[in-house]
Amino acid sequence: MADTGTPFLPFALPEIGEDEIAEVVDTLRSGWVTTGPKARRFEADFAAFLGDASLHCVAVNSATAGLHLALEALGIGPGDEVITTTHTFTATAEVVRYLGADVVLVDIDPATLNLDPAAVEAAITPRTKAILPVHYAGLAADMPAILAIAARHGLKVVEDAAHALPTTCGGRLVGTLASAATVFSFYANKTITTGEGGMLVTRDAALARRARTMRLHGMNRDAFDRFTATVPSWYYEVVAPGFKYNLTDIAAALGIHQLRRAYPFQRRRAEIAAQYDAAFAGLPLITPPGPAEGDTHAWHLYVLRLADDAGIARDRFIERLFGAGIGCSVHYIPLHLHPYWRERYALRAERFPHSQRAYEAMLSLPIYTRMSDADVARVVAAVRAALGAE
Ligand SMILES: *Cc1c(COP(=O)(O)O)cnc(C)c1O
Repeated sequence: MADTGTPFLPFALPEIGEDEIAEVVDTLRSGWVTTGPKARRFEADFAAFLGDASLHCVAVNSATAGLHLALEALGIGPGDEVITTTHTFTATAEVVRYLGADVVLVDIDPATLNLDPAAVEAAITPRTKAILPVHYAGLAADMPAILAIAARHGLKVVEDAAHALPTTCGGRLVGTLASAATVFSFYANKTITTGEGGMLVTRDAALARRARTMRLHGMNRDAFDRFTATVPSWYYEVVAPGFKYNLTDIAAALGIHQLRRAYPFQRRRAEIAAQYDAAFAGLPLITPPGPAEGDTHAWHLYVLRLADDAGIARDRFIERLFGAGIGCSVHYIPLHLHPYWRERYALRAERFPHSQRAYEAMLSLPIYTRMSDADVARVVAAVRAALGAE
C-alpha cells in the first residue's frame, strides 16, 4: 500500500436520502411490508417516468427475475436459441438456460462495446427465437439495427436495460422502444437502487399478465388483492408452476424516491464522465464513447481502456490504482472465458476478438453521485501516476 492516511475510495456506493429512509419507516409502520400499495405506486411512477401510458410495468425482485419472466412469457424453451453479447454479466445469459433454451454468444462492436448487429444477423439459425441486447455501461445498443434484424427474421427482442436508466436511443427512452420487453435493475450499484429489485416493462398486455402471474407462484390473484378486498376473497387458482419474484414494499419504498432522483443522479455521473474525458485526453488511454448527438448516456460505468502504447499491463495498472486507494473493477470478464459457458458451448476466445481485446485492456473507474470533485481529481491523479505520466 503506497498510500497512507487517505481513505480508500470505493468503486461504488449507493446514495440513499432521508426521503427514502422515511418512506421505508412508513412502510414498516404500515403493517404491509411485502408486495402491496408501494410496489403498485412504484410501478405506476415508473410508467409515468417513461412517459408512455401504454406501457405495463411489473416490479420484480431483480433484473435477473425480470429477464427470466420476459423470456418465459414469450414461450422460449428447449430447442430455442437466444442471441446475446459475450461482453455482459452472466445474468443476461443464465435466464435462457433456466428455460432449457440455448445461448448463442456473439462479439461486440469495438467502438461502443455493445452487441454488434452484423454478428447477430450472422448467428441467426432456424432455431433462433430472440435477441437479448445489453445497453452496455448505459450507452444504448444499436436498437434501430437490432429491431430491423428482428423484424426481418420474425424474432423477439428483450432488452437488458440493467445499466440504462435513464438512457435514450434516437431521442426515446430505453423502455419505450419497439422491443417485446425491457428489464431494468435496481441492484445496489446500479443507477438507482432498491437494494435488490428490477422492473419489467412491456407494451404487450398478455406478456405483462403472464409475468404478473409467474412472479408469484403462478397464482392468478396476489395477496394484496385477496387480503384487502372488502368482500370475502380467499379464493385463487394456481395456473402454472410459477416463481417467487415479487418486489417487497420495503424495497419499493426506496424505489419511489430513487426514481425521482434518476435525472439529477444521471447529470452528476455525466459531469464526472466529462471530467474524466477531459483529464485523460492526450494520455495513452481509450476513453469510453459518448452518446449519439442529442441522446442520454446513463453512465452506469466509466470504462477506460489502455492503449497499446500505455506501457503497462491492465492487471498491473489496477494494482497501482488499488495501491493509491482507488477502487476499480472490470466489466466484464466475457462470458466466453467463464468455465460454464466456455465448456457448455465449446467456446474459443478467437471467436470474440473484439470482446477479448477490450477485456484485456479495460478497467472501470468509480463513477457515482456521492463522489466529490476532489474524489474525481484523486482518481485522475492516480491514473496519471499509474501510467507514469507525472
Ligand atoms: C446487474 C446486471 C444484471 C442483473 O441485475 P440484478 O438486478 O442483480 O438481477 C443483469 N444484466 C446486467 C448487464 C447487469 O449489469
